Amino acid sequence: MKNIPTAARIDMLEESATLALNARVKQMAEQGKPVYNLTAGELPCKTPEYISDYVATKLDENKYTPASGLPVLKLAIAEAAKNFYGFLELELDNVVVTAGLKPAIYASLLSVINPGDEVLVPIPGWTSYSYQIKLAGGTPIEVELDENFDLDIGAIKQKITSKTKAVILCSPNNPTGTIYSKQRLEELAGVLNAAKIVVLSDDIYSKLVFSEDYAPPAKCGFLNLVILGGFSKSQALTGWRIGYIIAPNGIASAANKVLSQIMGNASLPAQYAAIAALENNDQPVMMAELLENRKFIINQLNQIEKIDFKEPHGAFYIYLDIRKITKNSLDWCEKLLNETGVALVPGEAFYTPGFARLNFAANKSILQTALNLLKDFNYEESKK
Ligand code: PMP
Ligand code: GLU
Repeated sequence: MKNIPTAARIDMLEESATLALNARVKQMAEQGKPVYNLTAGELPCKTPEYISDYVATKLDENKYTPASGLPVLKLAIAEAAKNFYGFLELELDNVVVTAGLKPAIYASLLSVINPGDEVLVPIPGWTSYSYQIKLAGGTPIEVELDENFDLDIGAIKQKITSKTKAVILCSPNNPTGTIYSKQRLEELAGVLNAAKIVVLSDDIYSKLVFSEDYAPPAKCGFLNLVILGGFSKSQALTGWRIGYIIAPNGIASAANKVLSQIMGNASLPAQYAAIAALENNDQPVMMAELLENRKFIINQLNQIEKIDFKEPHGAFYIYLDIRKITKNSLDWCEKLLNETGVALVPGEAFYTPGFARLNFAANKSILQTALNLLKDFNYEESKK
């Protein structure tokens, strides 16, 4: 086909590094190459049976639903959120169901920010936030987390300007697997409330927590709050595409307008999958295995002198600090993959070179082999 020039906005985009790498590694596996895929954030198990069984009873239903989702699902999400976050008031109109959490973030950004507005993004931070902010006409402003990957309130205060409209929080965090402390979150709430700055709280890992100290940001006093949630991680439903927004009526209605024009409803079977998940209290499907893997991985990594890390308290990531070896994690990860078959995501994808993300939600034998290979891997920086 004849080439057609792309729009200028595409120049500021790159394909999602995590998805691109995952696709590449899966393709290598299909070609018969030995690979140990510890890249994309998804659980290694099949769809939970209670979900497929329930959805199977609904497959004859084939009509559009309201763009914001089936009322019965929205009600179930509102009820579950009231329990989880302790909110007293939450109604159907506060909930918008989306096809995965990604469009939930984007629809919220489109509903909250004006062109030129700044959105603070703590880094290390998930790969897509910055691109979505730019696509929505805003400017992402990176703020480094502190050395324990907790919020650095001083650094955040310094980055706030008259253009700052929102902050994206993610706890448990992708890529670090750590959680923000309650004390810092409450301190931040004071700062942001005073400046009327909106918090977009990405709670996709909120059910995957290994610490009693976990405080969901939504429980820490933020007055201008949008919660972004989903079932991809807790229920191993990454391919089904189902998520949601919980927001004040104005933002929820704005997000509904956006999504009704560009996407329509999340797929009906996926909405039923979410109903089944909520009937089961959205109990994470692989918690015991994740806890076991976490322990295993911490033990193994402690034996690798040149790699540092912070213990994860949620999600299923551990963020390897390879700065004693190199700052060029792109090159290090590429060589690791080519020479050993172990696939990690370079920290450049999360705006922090010198790190690499390891997803420990993998089968034990894969993790075991990958860790042995990692221990024996000798990196030679390419000299150009
Ligand atoms: N937020 C974070 C922090 C994520 O790690 C991901 C990746 N799954 C998403 C949002 C997007 O989730 P979904 O697959 O439901 O769109
Ligand atoms: N969120 C997952 C990750 O960080 C999936 C990839 C993506 O959605 O970009 O690996």
